[in-house]
Amino acid sequence: MANDHGHSHDHDDGHDHGDGHEDPVIDPVQLRVRALETILVEKGYIESGALDAIVDYFENSVGPHVGARAVARAWLDEDFKRALLKDGATAIQSIGLVPKVGDDLIVVENTPSRHNMVVCTLCSCYPWDVLGLPPAWYKSAAYRSRVVIEPRAVLTEFGVTLPQSTEIRVWDSTAETRYLVLPMRPEHTESLSEDELAALVTRNSMIGTALPGLAGGKARE
Ligand code: FE
Repeated sequence: MANDHGHSHDHDDGHDHGDGHEDPVIDPVQLRVRALETILVEKGYIESGALDAIVDYFENSVGPHVGARAVARAWLDEDFKRALLKDGATAIQSIGLVPKVGDDLIVVENTPSRHNMVVCTLCSCYPWDVLGLPPAWYKSAAYRSRVVIEPRAVLTEFGVTLPQSTEIRVWDSTAETRYLVLPMRPEHTESLSEDELAALVTRNSMIGTALPGLAGGKARE
């Protein structure tokens, strides 16, 4: 086999040495990021503490729990739902979970007659403030191109099958305009609290590739 490790292998997978250890795999992107960070810190352009704070913010403060809270509240509170559909950024900011929601956040409501899906066909625009870091598949060329052409087939691959009578509408994000799907409240959830409802709202259900609740929520996380 081709030897790209500088020593010989007599097996095919290139990593398992049969002695219980694997070659360390160094991600070239991580390496470049680390090199870049080192240079910027050394030159005094940034402080590593400030960078840590930014990373911590995106890992811990923002995330799908922000969007999920807004969805659960909209299910329980008609006034909040109206506000959310009118101006998503302002309504979500009023909950107070994040200091700032991106300027233009459009919330699109799923109904029995219309299911919404979100994509960025150009690159990977995504409502970070309310959903956190985008999943890898959202940025993939396959999703970005196919969801526009055959949304129903893509949805099926995510484990969601909708009646033919349900129109599927795909929203294309841009740098200025992001979308958040307001999913339909699952049946038999009348007795649930806001916390319990929020727990049913997955990230994918707010992108439109899953339905909230246990069924479909785990697909392609
Ligand atoms: Fe984009």
